[in-house]
Amino acid sequence: MDRQQRESLAGLTKNWPSAMQFDVPMAGYSTLRAGGRAAALIDVHRLSELRRLLEQLHEQQLVFRVIGRGSNILVTDKGFPGVIIRLKGELEQVDLVEASDENSDALETKKIEGGELLINAGGGCSLGNFLTWCAQQGLSGLEFMTGIPGSVGGAVRMNAGALGGEIGDCLHSLECVDACGSTIRVPRSDLRLSYRKAELVGRDRERDIDALIVASVNFRLMRVEQGEIRSRCAGYLSRRKGKQPTGVASAGSFFKNPAGDAAGRLIEAAGLKGRCCGEAMVSPVHANFIVNTGKSTATDILTLMEQVQETVFQEFAVRLEPEVEII
Ligand SMILES: Cc1cc2nc3c(=O)[nH]c(=O)nc-3n(C[C@H](O)[C@H](O)[C@H](O)COP(=O)(O)OP(=O)(O)OC[C@H]3O[C@@H](n4cnc5c(N)ncnc54)[C@H](O)[C@@H]3O)c2cc1C
Repeated sequence: MDRQQRESLAGLTKNWPSAMQFDVPMAGYSTLRAGGRAAALIDVHRLSELRRLLEQLHEQQLVFRVIGRGSNILVTDKGFPGVIIRLKGELEQVDLVEASDENSDALETKKIEGGELLINAGGGCSLGNFLTWCAQQGLSGLEFMTGIPGSVGGAVRMNAGALGGEIGDCLHSLECVDACGSTIRVPRSDLRLSYRKAELVGRDRERDIDALIVASVNFRLMRVEQGEIRSRCAGYLSRRKGKQPTGVASAGSFFKNPAGDAAGRLIEAAGLKGRCCGEAMVSPVHANFIVNTGKSTATDILTLMEQVQETVFQEFAVRLEPEVEII
């Protein structure tokens, strides 16, 4: 990014709730607590700001990447040459969509069957806050997501899930902003959701989902008694405890499970539990977690990732694919 581009981005965002920051170490924005620098980073608080920013980035031919809670990303030590965008403020809010509201989503609430309700959650909303709100409101459907430390937008992009459920199961539609700053509504039927993957199909199939920012998500949820929801959430949380490393930096499962098997089982069977590279380590608690035990660099983590891939391939002829998005 050259000086003129920096000046014009600084000028655009000067009076916004958060101004553009430059040359930002990404370790502070990733749960792995590692990573190179981004040329720029901004917290965007309104849909109008997001649209204006994307228009300008498009005009200046600058690359961007939206992140949520950084719980599934690793920026390489080379760094990211463009703008990292985070969704805050209005874009973190949650609301029940009322059938009487004067907007198209509201009209669709009437079409929802079987006592389901339509809930709109900002793409930047943390899953933890969203699930707490749902429990308070007596809205059920996503309890299995308890303990996943991401955002609503990041979880949809990854089709995050646990214990047999995926966030895609409760999706109704998305409101997205494209790389030119235009808003697009994406109904559930235009998405192909598979294991840790969301793709666009149907009329939008030519678009790349990587070029869309999920500004907000409509979910279909059911009314259930609050106590019942809380006890389900507690049950899901206790099933996680003891099986995953806690109190240590990680991005959750590092590799996707290959069809019919578990990446953790293969890594453990290859004798890699506890293997280190610098301060990156294959967790002794769960072999599919690569943890940062101190001041690991992104290069340490990626070198260890390659060693794991190579060893598992030699032992079992299975090529493990990272679930973590390497930026
Ligand atoms: C301890 C731990 C446990 C975990 N357990 C699970 C688990 O059980 N199941 C599971 O599926 N995952 C799990 N994860 C991984 C991670 O939490 C999920 O993938 C989560 O959904 C990522 O959300 P995020 O907001 O942190 O996304 P980020 O890591 O910030 O980003 C991930 C990807 O989503 C994109 N993205 C982020 N926000 C948006 C948006 N608004 N619009 C479009 N794209 C966006 C980013 O560009 C990137 O490609 C775990 C992680 C940790 C650290």
